[in-house]
Amino acid sequence: MFNNNTIQRFKDIETPFYYYDLNVLKNTLDACRDASSKYNFHVHYAMKANFNPKVVDMVQSYGFGADCVSGNEVKAAIEHGFDKGKVVFAGVGKSDKEINAALDADIFCFNVESVQELEIINELAAAKSKVAGVAIRINPNVDAHTHHFITTGLDENKFGINTWQLNEVAEALRSLKNIKFLGIHFHVGSQITDMEVYRNLCTRINEIGEWFEDRGFAIKVLNAGGGLGVDYYNPDTNIPDFKSYFEVFSKFLNVKPGQEVHFELGRALVAQSSSLIARVLYVKNGQKKNFLILDAGMTELMRPMLYQAYHSIQNLTQESSIKNQEISNSGEAIKYDVVGPICESTDCFRKDVDLPQSFRGDLIAIRTAGAYGEVMASNYNLRDKVESVYSETIG
Ligand SMILES: *Cc1c(COP(=O)(O)O)cnc(C)c1O
Repeated sequence: MFNNNTIQRFKDIETPFYYYDLNVLKNTLDACRDASSKYNFHVHYAMKANFNPKVVDMVQSYGFGADCVSGNEVKAAIEHGFDKGKVVFAGVGKSDKEINAALDADIFCFNVESVQELEIINELAAAKSKVAGVAIRINPNVDAHTHHFITTGLDENKFGINTWQLNEVAEALRSLKNIKFLGIHFHVGSQITDMEVYRNLCTRINEIGEWFEDRGFAIKVLNAGGGLGVDYYNPDTNIPDFKSYFEVFSKFLNVKPGQEVHFELGRALVAQSSSLIARVLYVKNGQKKNFLILDAGMTELMRPMLYQAYHSIQNLTQESSIKNQEISNSGEAIKYDVVGPICESTDCFRKDVDLPQSFRGDLIAIRTAGAYGEVMASNYNLRDKVESVYSETIG
């Protein structure tokens, strides 16, 4: 991702910024398209992972659909040229205003998370004399074996409808006239790297699909959600294993003629395409701890503080030939706590990071920051909006 030329160019750019390597993004999207089209699977991009305009436009150019979790995302997806017939709207707390906006936009499908929501969508659709396409988001009670902060498919999570409520769902589907049942939807968590999880999910989808069909509900869409993980420890091996992922579904999911299989991938498509670039402001050497204080913090990248997420951290200046020749680098790694400038003790990217001896002004790259990075930036402490820089503009 970084050659000496790139790092040289970074020297003249004000930090912090997100650096997007659009080649990495393109290679990732190519790999996903190739692996999914082999089975005729439909991929939707989970927009919440990153809606940097250049990223969204590139994803859109591949003909993927859009998976949205707010009314504004629905609006943005359509503005960015996503086919409204490929826009789905998920989320456990859709407001009436958001539902109305999505009805007006004639999106493909609402992924519905409770019986009450089903009733409200029906009521709002009736008021517009429309029929809303719905998929029922079911909580399959599959353990995603991922960090407990990012599991979504267990009984104790707030998402989806639990299987013991399905009778009630079936009753509602029969009686509500302004909704059209399209299929069933699942999303069991994020950053999943164990393919066994998806195999278990297939089993549950098969069982639940049968439950609906036994009761006379034809299923058009089987939506397996997203959650495919990326390798945060090896940011340069940057293409996730789309082949194995889609293969699991092709092997273990019972797909009947006429049925479509849908996916909603966010992280896997965009995570490796970006790094957060910051500078060392100060080096604090303590008796117990050494701190590198960066000019970026939780206001630019919140994942480590929000869910104890790991990001690989590099000192680009010391690793490259652009370092100040007068500084003699002992070559031995030093352990630093890499922290931000924000007035919160949790504003720490990682503790005990092995780095070459580092100095004020060094450029630091926090890798694999393309998913749930820039989108979560805030202006807490009245921080400036974080900038983005693209590989194609700096050469
Ligand atoms: C966030 C989300 C996704 C995407 O998750 P990733 O881990 O980024 O792939 C897909 N579907 C739903 C319903 C989501 O909320």
